[in-house]
Amino acid sequence: MSAKPDGIIIGTGIIGASIAYELCKKGFKTLNIDKQPAAGYGSTGDSCAIIRTNYSTLEGTALAYDSYFDWINWADYLNLKNVKWLSRFREVGFLVIDQRKALTSKVKQNHDELKIPYEIWDWQKIATTLPHFSDRSYYPPKRLDDPEFLRLSDTVLNGDFFFFPRGGYVDDPQLTVRNIQEATELIGGEFIFSSKVIKILQNDSKVTGVMLQDGRIIEAGFIVNAAGPHSFLVNRMAGIEKSSNIKTKALRREVHFLPSPEEFTYDETVCVVSDVDTGIYHRPESGNQILAGSLDPECDERVWIENPDRYNRNNTNEIWKTQVYRLANRIPNLPIPNHVRGIVGLYDVSDDWLPIYDRSDLEGFYLAIGTSGNQFKNGPVAGRIMAQIISACENGIDHDQTPVQSKLQNIDVILNTGSFSRNRDINRESTFSVQG
Ligand SMILES: Cc1cc2nc3c(=O)[nH]c(=O)nc-3n(C[C@H](O)[C@H](O)[C@H](O)COP(=O)(O)OP(=O)(O)OC[C@H]3O[C@@H](n4cnc5c(N)ncnc54)[C@H](O)[C@@H]3O)c2cc1C
Repeated sequence: MSAKPDGIIIGTGIIGASIAYELCKKGFKTLNIDKQPAAGYGSTGDSCAIIRTNYSTLEGTALAYDSYFDWINWADYLNLKNVKWLSRFREVGFLVIDQRKALTSKVKQNHDELKIPYEIWDWQKIATTLPHFSDRSYYPPKRLDDPEFLRLSDTVLNGDFFFFPRGGYVDDPQLTVRNIQEATELIGGEFIFSSKVIKILQNDSKVTGVMLQDGRIIEAGFIVNAAGPHSFLVNRMAGIEKSSNIKTKALRREVHFLPSPEEFTYDETVCVVSDVDTGIYHRPESGNQILAGSLDPECDERVWIENPDRYNRNNTNEIWKTQVYRLANRIPNLPIPNHVRGIVGLYDVSDDWLPIYDRSDLEGFYLAIGTSGNQFKNGPVAGRIMAQIISACENGIDHDQTPVQSKLQNIDVILNTGSFSRNRDINRESTFSVQG
């Protein structure tokens, strides 16, 4: 490591790496520290990396749409011209199967206000595009132990369904973060790995640096908590765990890989599907596979994790069966393999499932946490917002009293970043689920 950094960022997931990149562009000297051996080994590496713009709140929708332009211009955004490996955004579109009008009308309002294109599909259009889909309705999703779970529904889906052409997924979330690391290093940012932060050092109620597990002390003017599902532990280290109105905690999540039905090829052009009717989302995965996860239906138990370093990282038969059979309700010819294959990871969930991008009550200590299973897509804009908040606060602005108003880079919106405050009231507009 060279000279004393201006700021330390704890974490090298999509959020920590993006903050470093944006701070370096503003002339700050940053150091990212991660306890893992390389960037993107936390939630980010486990992510399905789905990119979509439909969020419950206007602010969430604006963040997602602003970042969309970074994904389509990835090499330019990072100013990486001669890199061998770049992650790719597959813009295959995003279909929502949801017949509940309340949510969809809010989504429509947000998209109209921000002029984000969308199409309304009827079932005929879905059946033509995705001929392997069943038109039965299974809402509300059931638990595995419900006698109705395996019963074939005789209710047919009808109505209007949203298709968002400006959606899709990023093919390699870990490579994405390595791309950001490389771009950051080119403009002076530094990264150290296999180094666990165990203490936030303070003097006179202001941060002064961190202590690592091997005893090293690194001084810095400010520190950012971008520790993903470990965010509550890092806040505890800083002595501020209880001081915010909105808290965070870790939630265990499983996603599964499945083969494509024989008569249909899940290549990289099939759209992403968010099927609220069955409670499952899925997208194409390389090798003619499907990657499927849960949309958090109310009936499902939420498994909160007290120690994010020790939890069951094996897929469980019960969750696998629940998710795979729900997907089979929509794709009746889904081949059900005789072995379980998937990813187990953690979400860093806030009380209202919306992120916290803010300062904290400890001077020089910033929060980019509570990403609630849905902020991979917002990495670039989260980096910009945090860089603006940090820059303003380090220049003496009282962000709590006068929240930073951020002119978004890619769309014509001025965002009140106070809406991501640690001390906001719980936002009742949220879906209180991974949908945000
Ligand atoms: C299964 C799954 C599917 C998902 N699917 C999607 C999706 O389709 N679309 C989407 O937008 N979002 C999705 N997400 C959410 C998204 O992945 C997260 O919101 C995002 O990756 C969070 O990034 P992060 O940088 O905050 O956290 P992380 O990637 O977890 O990074 C935090 C880093 O901090 C490090 N760290 C923690 N404590 C310390 C310490 N004391 N010292 C040093 N280092 C430390 C960790 O090692 C880790 O590398 C999904 C998440 C999961 C788990």
